[in-house]
Amino acid sequence: MSKTHDALSLSYEEWNRILTGELELPRYRADQICQWIYQKKVFDFAEMTNLSKELREKLPASFTLFPPMIIKEQASKDGTRKFLMQLTDGEKIESVLMDHGSHSTACISSQVGCPLGCSFCATGIAGFVRNLTAGEIAGQFLAMEKRLGKDINNAVFMGMGEPFLNTDNVLAAILALSGPKMRNLGARHIAVSTSGIVPGIIDLSNFEVPVRLSVSLHAPNDALRSKLMPVNRKHSLESLMDALRKYQERTGERITFEYVMIDKVNDSADNAYELTSLLQGMGAYVNVIPYNPVTEKYARSGEARIKEFCAILTKYRIEHEIRREKGADIDAACGQLRVKDV
Ligand code: SF4
Repeated sequence: MSKTHDALSLSYEEWNRILTGELELPRYRADQICQWIYQKKVFDFAEMTNLSKELREKLPASFTLFPPMIIKEQASKDGTRKFLMQLTDGEKIESVLMDHGSHSTACISSQVGCPLGCSFCATGIAGFVRNLTAGEIAGQFLAMEKRLGKDINNAVFMGMGEPFLNTDNVLAAILALSGPKMRNLGARHIAVSTSGIVPGIIDLSNFEVPVRLSVSLHAPNDALRSKLMPVNRKHSLESLMDALRKYQERTGERITFEYVMIDKVNDSADNAYELTSLLQGMGAYVNVIPYNPVTEKYARSGEARIKEFCAILTKYRIEHEIRREKGADIDAACGQLRVKDV
């Protein structure tokens, strides 16, 4: 008996290899099945009506096809929707959809929880359970599209977890989402956000799909960054910036830096000057994000402070914007994802 494959974790080439090899089927069957799954969002082989009845009955013996199941949905006043999804082993994750009519973005998770323990982040505070499979990652996107009833334009890996602690599965999910015979989402519409895992940045710069990269920076010097983000003790700012420069040399891509503004922690004028010198000469874009408190330890910077900080970035020609907050009322904003009991 052939082994069971996780359908949503497969690339188009793998579909072809398995169907033509193990199952001795013609190549066009891969096109048909991928079209059902990725275009029509049909997740039951029995409903794939252009396959023969015999084949429809045979496929479940070789493939499992279970996207994460949406078990709860919350809608924010600003149109952001947060989904609690259950995985086949009962673990739960959250994914967020920002739908603005013609323009929609899915924020997807790469791990159940996160082991990196950033002190300002709800996911980090809640701890780590396990990595997601490639199918569970791509499946979040498909499950949201099915629920929405239309295509989603963008995928950002900014949900729960650090993508580059699960690089192989994240890259496999990107292959599935971007493959022309699969979901066919353009590489420019996919962004991976990392806390600064250097080997992952190097892997991404060698990856065949030129997706965008963003870095959760949040502090402009090692002492402060190590306090906020323990990952910095392993991957210092110097090694991170070095990897980013190499990524940029190789890809020519601008890098987005996320900088969450925490009152009297990382929002001083000195911090702004340090940030400008860190990013000077790079193709950089800074998202300045007013902090969404998830712990009493930290508060959001005041508006005047944020403006002063941004004025320094402007003076030194560091491109930036203050990011409009989305979904804060349903804990769907940056750093707020944490699976709560339902
Ligand atoms: S900010 Fe990102 S890397 Fe840090 S704990 Fe939260 S999910 Fe993990």
